[in-house]
Amino acid sequence: MASYTYETHNYDVVVVGAGGAGLRATLGMAEQGLRTACVTKVFPTRSHTVAAQGGIAASLGNMGPDSWQWHMFDTVKGSDWLGDTDAMEYLARSAPAAVYELEHYGVPFSRTEAGKIYQRPFGGHTTEFGDGPPVQRTCAAADRTGHAILHTLYGQSLKNNAEFFIEYFALDLIMSEDGVCQGVVCWKLDDGTFHVFNAKMTVLATGGYGRAYFSATSAHTCTGDGGGMVARAGLALQDMEFVQFHPTGIYGSGCLITEGARGEGGYLTNSQGERFMERYAPHYKDLAPRDYVSRCMTLEIREGRGVGEHKDHIHLNLSHLPKEALAERLPGISESAKIFAGVDVTKEPIPVLPTVHYNMGGIPTNYWGEALNPTADNPNAIVPGLMAVGEAGCASVHGANRLGSNSLIDLVVFGRAAAIRAGEIVDPKARPAAYNQASVDKCFARFDGLRHAKGHTPTADLRLEMQRTMQADAAVFRTDKTLAEGKAKMTEIAAKVADLKVTDRSLIWNSDLMETLELTNLMPNALATIVGAEARKESRGAHASEDHATRDDVNWRKHSIMRVEDNKVDLSYRPVITEPLTTEAEGGISLAKIAPKARTF
Ligand SMILES: Cc1cc2nc3c(=O)[nH]c(=O)nc-3n(C[C@H](O)[C@H](O)[C@H](O)COP(=O)(O)OP(=O)(O)OC[C@H]3O[C@@H](n4cnc5c(N)ncnc54)[C@H](O)[C@@H]3O)c2cc1C
Repeated sequence: MASYTYETHNYDVVVVGAGGAGLRATLGMAEQGLRTACVTKVFPTRSHTVAAQGGIAASLGNMGPDSWQWHMFDTVKGSDWLGDTDAMEYLARSAPAAVYELEHYGVPFSRTEAGKIYQRPFGGHTTEFGDGPPVQRTCAAADRTGHAILHTLYGQSLKNNAEFFIEYFALDLIMSEDGVCQGVVCWKLDDGTFHVFNAKMTVLATGGYGRAYFSATSAHTCTGDGGGMVARAGLALQDMEFVQFHPTGIYGSGCLITEGARGEGGYLTNSQGERFMERYAPHYKDLAPRDYVSRCMTLEIREGRGVGEHKDHIHLNLSHLPKEALAERLPGISESAKIFAGVDVTKEPIPVLPTVHYNMGGIPTNYWGEALNPTADNPNAIVPGLMAVGEAGCASVHGANRLGSNSLIDLVVFGRAAAIRAGEIVDPKARPAAYNQASVDKCFARFDGLRHAKGHTPTADLRLEMQRTMQADAAVFRTDKTLAEGKAKMTEIAAKVADLKVTDRSLIWNSDLMETLELTNLMPNALATIVGAEARKESRGAHASEDHATRDDVNWRKHSIMRVEDNKVDLSYRPVITEPLTTEAEGGISLAKIAPKARTF
């Protein structure tokens, strides 16, 4: 093996990722007086959060009555009773303060006539614990909310003297012999140097792994690198079988049309021009939660009522909305529809199809963002020195299905919570511990092996094989047969990593090698997804099994825990946390309100 030299940096905290979650954590850690480094493989404001359109949920009540208890109820129901109750309470309760904080940091929210933050309706967000009409809870900066948040948080982080290491690719965690995380090893993409970040706390904020699928709304950088690092460290992933399909990806390109389009009054139609969601969801209609709308669209297409030459997609209609409203509230998606579908939204419907959008699963954490490595004796065992926030993590507030606009709020609420917790447990005066050299050496050995990979399979070919298999076999509807076949195929595909061929051996701007590293991160995420799905014999949230059509709370109201080693997934389970943080007497939600029941729309 070539020997790799590197520079060592000592920090209190290293945050990997500069999306909404990574930046909110970085800013918070820096505000706590912790010496904080943020490493990111892309420029911070190019992180996928920049693409978030519709908005961020918080029960501000600016457009009518609302309460955090209603928000919590909707989140519990949206999760199909798989979310952890303490974390869901923490999210809903903290959301208004987190949004006001963003406002004070400078996020340019759209405004009501009265000058308050504008809020729009979004799927699954209701009043009166689901019995009342839809609520306007989603705070928006036109249809560029993520863009506004990311730019503001980056500016604030710089102001608070956080240090950024941009276009540094994190390769692996440094783990001590006794399981403490001691930092991360990075490769600097523009000059080929290597860097060890030795830190008292490492925070993974690396985003989702949508690119394990062929058609996804997420950026090409969403390759589950945090999940890959965790799997290689022998740590756990959780609930990976739950993958959200967004109802309205533009047919062909997969580019997202925000749910805000339906929030503003848009609706779906089939080939007969029928507003079919009224039939499936008389109460919620087009604003039913995403898993359900995606399934209804798929059924319409299957039953021959799809639109277009191949009857293989659905129409999203906006042309009845006033032109001014489209220009003011949805300028970005009007542009996307023009570019990616050649459609003028003021005149024609947009062709859409359910498209992979979000990963509910990820690195298990408690509601302070501390990473868990559950054991049979202690399902909530903490990994010292490691946190995970944002889409990479699984707190779990989204359970089996995330509600629209609940991710952006998850990023800031748990990014902030992680910083508060780190402020309590990281001692800035303590000397940095000596890190485990063997762990660093192991990382370089793996890197060197891939850099000189001389097999027969080009990275792009293997990636495509994985993406097509996941798209076909771990889809909106799943059967025992497709999942068993998919599991067998994915096991074979994962084994082909040993036969990869990398042609560029250089260390500077080597996209061939970087994409190979990313593929080796996508692979354990994909494998855990299909194995978890194959094992789960029920339908819950985004996991819709045709052979097991109902939810089975007796046997399956539990989190899946996956450990991936040598292309094998070891599955175990962890109980769902059903206790809220506060009792009804303390002002919390009544247990009767959030007791599991059938999810109706
Ligand atoms: C098109 C689109 C629209 C959306 N709209 C909404 C919405 O309106 N409301 C809502 O609530 N949610 C929305 N979502 C979901 C939400 O935006 C995402 O879940 C969220 O932005 C993820 O944020 P994150 O901070 O976890 O990760 P990301 O924003 O994906 O950032 C990941 C970061 O990790 C870094 N990174 C990754 N791997 C490495 C590595 N190996 N080394 C170094 N750095 C690394 C990247 O450089 C990046 O900075 C949308 C998602 C998409 C795709």
